[in-house]
Amino acid sequence: MGPKGWFILKVLMFQGLFISHSQEQEDFDFFYLVLQWPGAYCDTKRSCCYPTSGKPAADFGIHGLWPNYKDGSYPSNCNPDSEFDKSQITDLVSSLKKTWPTLACPSNEGFKFWKHEWEKHGTCSESVMDQHEYFENSLKLRDRANLFQALTNSGIKPDDRFYDLEKIRKAIKDEIGFTPGIECNKDPERNDQLHQIYICVDTSGTEFIKCPILPRERCPSRLQFAKF
Ligand code: 5GP
Ligand code: 5GP
Repeated sequence: MGPKGWFILKVLMFQGLFISHSQEQEDFDFFYLVLQWPGAYCDTKRSCCYPTSGKPAADFGIHGLWPNYKDGSYPSNCNPDSEFDKSQITDLVSSLKKTWPTLACPSNEGFKFWKHEWEKHGTCSESVMDQHEYFENSLKLRDRANLFQALTNSGIKPDDRFYDLEKIRKAIKDEIGFTPGIECNKDPERNDQLHQIYICVDTSGTEFIKCPILPRERCPSRLQFAKF
């Protein structure tokens, strides 16, 4: 090929890059930021293990940032080629250990949990954020949702007592501005307890929004707030 041929080829390749990039829109409608109450994760038949860094704070930790569709369905495991790479998040690890602790057994540092969340959910939002941004945005969002403080300020404390679902929902709504989804699980005595909170986030992964759809709720009108 002569120099002219090469030039044309390069122009075509450049255009190809440009077009494929500009067509890369978000392929989801919003995110759920899912926060877990460690006391409820641990107070089940399955039980839990503390991470190697020790017992996490008695506070809501991150479970994940999950791309979702407005109809309630969701994409998952979108890109097997985009493996979790811990070298991309070295600057975030100390915050992740505090705010995104793992409670699964056997005890580990947390990388397994973060890898799972990146590969299952994060890879479905790569059109808007890379791996570093995925974890950084999750941490920033969590910092802005002081659910524990909002609940305790409303007299709702993790003391194994039962509280009204609607009071919990209102305390959180007053804190973040929008109605959250609330999920329960069962302790070994079959009591329903506050397990996870779902907060909706825009497609840029930075702002709370009104939920386009709330997850199906199975909480009774009164639920236990487990000690941790
Ligand atoms: P579970 O069946 O325990 O509610 O959910 C199991 C897993 O499925 C979750 O940890 C999460 O990875 C995924 N999942 C469940 N519900 C949703 C949802 O509404 N949206 C998304 N994106 N993932 C979900
Ligand atoms: P998901 O339910 O998001 O699909 O999957 C959660 C996965 O992460 C499970 O395989 C679970 O064993 C693992 N995992 C590790 N640590 C935690 C934790 O603290 N909470 C939850 N919900 N899952 C964890």
